[in-house]
Amino acid sequence: MNHLPNSTAARDIATLIHPYTNLDRHMTAGPLVMTRGEGVYVFDDSGKRYLEGMAGLWSVSLGFGEQRLVDAATRQMQALPYSQLFGHRSHEPAIELAEKLLAMAPAGLDKVLFANSGSEANDQAAKLVWYYHNAIGKPRKKKIIARTRGYHGVTVYSGSLTGLPANHADFDLPVGGVLRADCPSHYLFGQPGEGEAAFVDRIVGNLEQLILREDPETIGAFIAEPVQGSGGVIVPPKGYFEKVQALLRRYDILFIADEVICGFGRTGQMFGCETFDIRPDIVTVAKQLSSSYIPISATLVSRPIFEGMLEESRKQGVFAHGFTYSGHPVAAAVALETLKIYEERDTIGHVQRVMPHFQSRLHALAEHPLVGEARGIGLIGAIEIVQDKRTRKSFAAADGIPAMAAAATLRHGVIARAIRDAIAFCPPLIISEAEIDELFDGVRHGLDEALAHAR
Ligand code: PLP
Repeated sequence: MNHLPNSTAARDIATLIHPYTNLDRHMTAGPLVMTRGEGVYVFDDSGKRYLEGMAGLWSVSLGFGEQRLVDAATRQMQALPYSQLFGHRSHEPAIELAEKLLAMAPAGLDKVLFANSGSEANDQAAKLVWYYHNAIGKPRKKKIIARTRGYHGVTVYSGSLTGLPANHADFDLPVGGVLRADCPSHYLFGQPGEGEAAFVDRIVGNLEQLILREDPETIGAFIAEPVQGSGGVIVPPKGYFEKVQALLRRYDILFIADEVICGFGRTGQMFGCETFDIRPDIVTVAKQLSSSYIPISATLVSRPIFEGMLEESRKQGVFAHGFTYSGHPVAAAVALETLKIYEERDTIGHVQRVMPHFQSRLHALAEHPLVGEARGIGLIGAIEIVQDKRTRKSFAAADGIPAMAAAATLRHGVIARAIRDAIAFCPPLIISEAEIDELFDGVRHGLDEALAHAR
């Protein structure tokens, strides 16, 4: 495609490096330029409207036109556009946000450390696991178990925790100290004839063998998303987290819950930890914390971990960690307003009212000839695209059928995301039943077009 000199597309191609993009293809294909948003919709520079079926990157919970968040940012910019939390400094937005977060968070979490992205929140969670174990005189207890298909970010360490080959290849990751456990998808990784309960027992058994092989005294933590998002929306089978937690308790291994996608209502409860009865030692949040209107993330820690940090900071003289923008007042003010809106409008109640419709439209796609499995919970879901439903065989990567289906869906005015062989959906939490219908009608059109190509 030829782009006119000085057009937006030509200027984009001349200057920008796009994350998660085939950089070479972009040189000719160019960008899809968005200009504005309204409710669950975004509009491109030709005026075409799209239903944002991914809420941006699993994150714009309140949709694209929430004036209260704009006003909160403006007020804070006018009052105090920047201040810091280093060296005993503080400000009201960070304090109030920490109070509110701790009041909402799963039980047992005691203190909040702010950062700016999900990757940073997980990175600092890992550092706190190491710091804590040094503090309590267990300096060998440092390895972290993460799962195949887990997604925890892209910084050097959070990218190492991520269990997706594309994030490691030629970036020379993972770095040391990361152990890999099974992905809990029965559909994708169950053996022929193996029931779901037997699958859970097998992968939890594998986890125990891994712990024993490595020596429990060298393992500090296990990190998991309650529902794996970027790994293809993997909802864990019944009993999985219960058995995993029993093992972790037996071997004195901390649980880090990565709530970056699940946090703030995505699974139908405030946190994925509530939906799956997880009792975490550390929780990381980002994305829906500010409805993604501004970057902010947080790492929440239990009382014993904070006591370890106190001990270390007495020893070292300072807790020598933090970002220039940790607890940025404008970001904190926007996040605080976001949490107030969730409460005042009973956003979780809304999710609970519309999620049965979302799940029933999602599961109805399982009848489509291209769909092997439809899976989801709350307002998140995915379909697995297969060439053969019976054998569950996927298409050759070169055929690009899932990407083709997502592209056709986009032409029908609905944004969904192809992730390997799956297509994922994660709309704004404010979506109505009529908009859910529009989303899945668009997806069905997209699947039909891809089917015509596949045949
Ligand atoms: N953790 C999870 C579960 C995520 O889904 C993501 C991003 O998609 C991250 C961490 C990383 O967050 P960020 O992209 O803000 O660094």
